[in-house]
Formats: sequence, structure tokens, C-alpha cells
Amino acid sequence: MSQRRWAVAILGATGAVGQTFIRQLAGHPWFEIAELAASDRSAGRPYAEACRWLEGTLPPELASRTVVRCDPSEVKAPLVFSALDSGVAGEVEQAFARAGRFVLSNAKNHRMDVDVPLVIPEVNAAHLGLLAVQQRNRGWTGGIVTNANCAATVAAMAMAPLHEAFGISKAMVFTMQAVSGAGYPGVPSLDILGNVIPYIGEEEPKVERELAKMLGTLDAGTVRHAPFTVSAHTNRVPTEHGHLVCLSLALGRAASVDEVVGVLGAWRGHPDVKGLPSAPDLPIVVTSEPDRPQTRRDVWAGRGMTVTVGRIRPDPLFDVKLVALGHNTIRGAAGGSVLNAELLASRGLLEPA
Ligand code: NAP
Repeated sequence: MSQRRWAVAILGATGAVGQTFIRQLAGHPWFEIAELAASDRSAGRPYAEACRWLEGTLPPELASRTVVRCDPSEVKAPLVFSALDSGVAGEVEQAFARAGRFVLSNAKNHRMDVDVPLVIPEVNAAHLGLLAVQQRNRGWTGGIVTNANCAATVAAMAMAPLHEAFGISKAMVFTMQAVSGAGYPGVPSLDILGNVIPYIGEEEPKVERELAKMLGTLDAGTVRHAPFTVSAHTNRVPTEHGHLVCLSLALGRAASVDEVVGVLGAWRGHPDVKGLPSAPDLPIVVTSEPDRPQTRRDVWAGRGMTVTVGRIRPDPLFDVKLVALGHNTIRGAAGGSVLNAELLASRGLLEPA
């Protein structure tokens, strides 16, 4: 396991995910926050003034740190966590990778690029093999590794064990997504208090396409997408953190509810993940309580890195249905990104090509 320490930068450090990175990296054994970067609106200001800190205590050593611009000439760290708005992430992340940095991105921009890994370590660690393809294709010494849309991440973790064991041929995905998923300041309070909004811009296509890529297989330098069809309904609901995802799945081969429960309960994901600093004891916890998972009660499982799965039962249209819950800014964003970086570090992949 790695003993080396890396200086890291956070791009988009002032936003909801950027702040979650700061919390996830506090006291990290391998990574130390060296630079905080955001837009020109924030650059040049002390971090505590540039951002509206949302949760817990802002680490005092970062409060007076001057925010810099998201430019590789100003940000020197070799490892860069990107929590950038997608309006700018595409170009900025490429500039950093071109400059020899490793970028762990939360933005949608490069997720579906054929040579960019879209990774949940327990689900598809093998896809990191695309990094060498990317470096070869683009002549970069650094590279970009992405994590998925937050709702797709929760669904993927519940679906991966079942796809491995039985194959999935169709999935109906219905989400109830917390307001922190929209960033800060996010959804206006009068739009969401006492309300449900059955529309999240661009979310449904992201869930549909990213699941097929993540649950696909890397073969000869290409990810062959999983051959299932996904239909997603995505909804914004007035919860703070945690995306609740109801899934109806058609399986490739018949399986009883007991078999499905057994497969999900026994799943540990890729063995290389165990022991990484941000890895939870269990990637999935299966609950048998009839009214769980619940957002309030289960969102902090595994310090926000465990997905809780419950209500596993037969589906009269498909084969099986269930409910999964995961923390959107931790497992679905900053925590997932840090775990990706830990996996890269543990495999010696954070050295320039
Ligand atoms: P957010 O709260 O709106 O934060 C956006 C960040 O981007 C801020 O730090 C902002 O800096 C920076 N930014 C905006 N325009 C910029 C520019 N022109 N140049 C440089 N920096 C700029 O959004 P968020 O929820 O943290 O999401 C960040 C990214 O993660 C997005 O791509 C989002 O889709 C993705 N994501 C979010 C979640 C979630 O649960 N929230 C989950 C998965 C993925 P200023 O403060 O200086 O404007």
C-alpha cells in the first residue's frame, strides 16, 4: 500500500462538491490539499470569503488560503480533483491533463469519451486500463479519470452484483434526488420546499448511458457497453443529501429473491479496493426492514460511502425490484473521486507516462 504523500489541488473548491472534497481529504494519509481553485470571481480572495461554507467547520488552515484560478500555470499539484461546473470543466480538465496532471473529475464532460475511464472502484476497476489508451491517443503524460453522475453511481452499485451474477437485460430506474445534488445555491427554496420536481435537466440521458458504460467490459482497449436497456425517471425531492433509487430489473437468467439477496449481501466488489483509506467496510449493505432504506436514517452508512439496498421483492413486469440509497456528494461525487485516486495511487498509476 502507498506510503508516499501527494500534494493535491481542488478545482471548483468553493462549490458543494468542492467543499465535500475538503471534508473528505481532512487528515488523509496520502493526499494533502495544496491549492484551492475556482472562477475569476473567487480568485485572489481568501477561501473563507470566496465560498459560503455549508456544513461543519471549515478547517482553519484553509480559511485564509488564497483561491487561485483554474489554470495549470497557477496550480502546481500533480493530482487534481475537479468539482467544476460542466460549463467550464471540459476545456480546463484537458488543459491540466495536457500539462501532465492527473485529473479526477466529477463533471459530465469527458465521462463518455471512449478513452476516458468512468470508474467506481468496486464495480469496474479494470476500466482504469483506458488511462494508458488515453495517454497514447492524446500524447498526454497526465490523464483524466471520471466518476459517474451521482444517481447513476447509486444505481450502478446495486446493479453490478446482479449483472455479474445473472446478467441484466432491462432496467427501470426511478430516482428521488436530494437538493445538494444541484450544487449551491442550487434549487430556489420556493421551488422545492413542500414540492417534488419531476425533471432534472439532462439527468435521465446521463443515467441511461453511464450505467451501460460502467457495467460494460474493457476488451482490447475499448469498453464494450453492457447490452441492457435502461429507462430513467429522475425527480428532485426536498431532502438534503442522499439519492434514493427504485429499480425494476429484468435478469438474463431466472433468480429467486433469496438468490438476489444472497448475491447483494455477499458482494464485496473488486479486491484491490479493500483497505484503501476511503473504502467503506462494505460497499453495499442489505437491509431486510420493510421500510428501509430511508434517506434520513441510512444516508451516512459507511461515512457516506456505503450504498444501502432493501425492499428486494419480485417484480410483476420484470423479474426483481429493489430500493437503493447512496450519499450523492460523498459516494456519488467527492468520496468516489478520492477512492478512484487512491486506487490509482495504490497501482502506481499516478506517475507521469
Ligand atoms: P456548484 O456548487 O455550483 O460549484 C461549482 C464550482 O465551479 C464552484 O467552485 C465555482 O466557482 C466553479 N466554477 C463555476 N464557473 C467557473 C469558471 N468559469 N471557472 C472556474 N470555476 C468555475 O456545483 P457542485 O454541485 O459542487 O458540482 C460540481 C460538479 O460536480 C458539476 O459538474 C456537477 O455536475 C458535478 N456533480 C455534482 C454532484 C452533487 O451531488 N452536487 C454529484 C456528482 C457530480 P465560483 O464559486 O468561483 O463560482
